Amino acid sequence: MKYVATKVLKRLETNKLRGGFKDPQRTLLVPISFGVSSIVLLHVLNQQLSARAEAGRHSGYNLHILFVDESAVLKHAFLPDLLDMLKQRYPSHTYTVVSLEDYCDYDFDFDLPAFADARTNGHGVLDKITRFKRILSSLPSATSRADMIEILRRRLIIAFAQKHACDSILFGDSTTRLAEKTLSETAKGRGISLPWLIADGSPSHGINCTYPLRDLLRKELGAYVSMTLPPLTPLVCEAPSQTPTSSKETTIDGLMTQYFESVEQNYPSIVANVVRTSGKLLAPSILEDIDACTLCGCPIANMSWGGDQLDSAVPRLADGSGSEHGKAICYGCARTV
Ligand SMILES: [Zn+2]
Repeated sequence: MKYVATKVLKRLETNKLRGGFKDPQRTLLVPISFGVSSIVLLHVLNQQLSARAEAGRHSGYNLHILFVDESAVLKHAFLPDLLDMLKQRYPSHTYTVVSLEDYCDYDFDFDLPAFADARTNGHGVLDKITRFKRILSSLPSATSRADMIEILRRRLIIAFAQKHACDSILFGDSTTRLAEKTLSETAKGRGISLPWLIADGSPSHGINCTYPLRDLLRKELGAYVSMTLPPLTPLVCEAPSQTPTSSKETTIDGLMTQYFESVEQNYPSIVANVVRTSGKLLAPSILEDIDACTLCGCPIANMSWGGDQLDSAVPRLADGSGSEHGKAICYGCARTV
């Protein structure tokens, strides 16, 4: 029990987010998916805040809990009862629900010219959900669709944090999840973005992102949720890992999840090693004149971004008239759309 809390709080301390009594009060955004990891993260942070409040000490930070409702595109539905249970158990924080299709309300320009057809049906502008579903169905594969949903979720969380003046985002990814991400992002041609996607303290899109559960395996968190008093198990609602009905529906992310599920049982040190190794990658300091990818928002680090696989310069999406003077995208996104 103590092991988990110690690991999490140590990470916060390393990233100077634990909040000493001299530090100004911070607002930390915690995205919640109702998976084991994010629930454990919230529980540990809440415990720390409660202990400080009982001792009459400066709390150091406030938590803003964000749930991204993906029911428009994923099979599992959003359960308002679960959110109510969470609010009852941890009442002192701020809670917000946003829908994935609400990306339209933020100022990142995701309705690219390449997706222009998705915007109207010839009679008028379509509603957000239909527009979003059209964009997804225009993508070439299940992996691309899963990739696009992941990119949107991350950008929406970051945009929300910026709009609400949060000081940092605490993602609940475990070691196992970060290892999955390392391999799947690399397989999807996004190896170059890894420092922005999984490293602690990376100034991703101008806001600090931290992964306080990076030293804990998913199976350790799974054991933790049943050991707390009362158990956290009723708050956890993981989407069942769906076995794709055909190989067409199989995604790289899905394969990686299955792979690391088995690896962490017998060879947990391999999982930790993947994350330690990729954690050593450093994000180059971002220069202002470097293009950011229009889709995923990661900086397009240099002109040789495609390695030997592409000999041209940074590709650009064709604009509405089909010319090539559209917006710059990174290698990973060029493979997705
Ligand atoms: Zn990109």
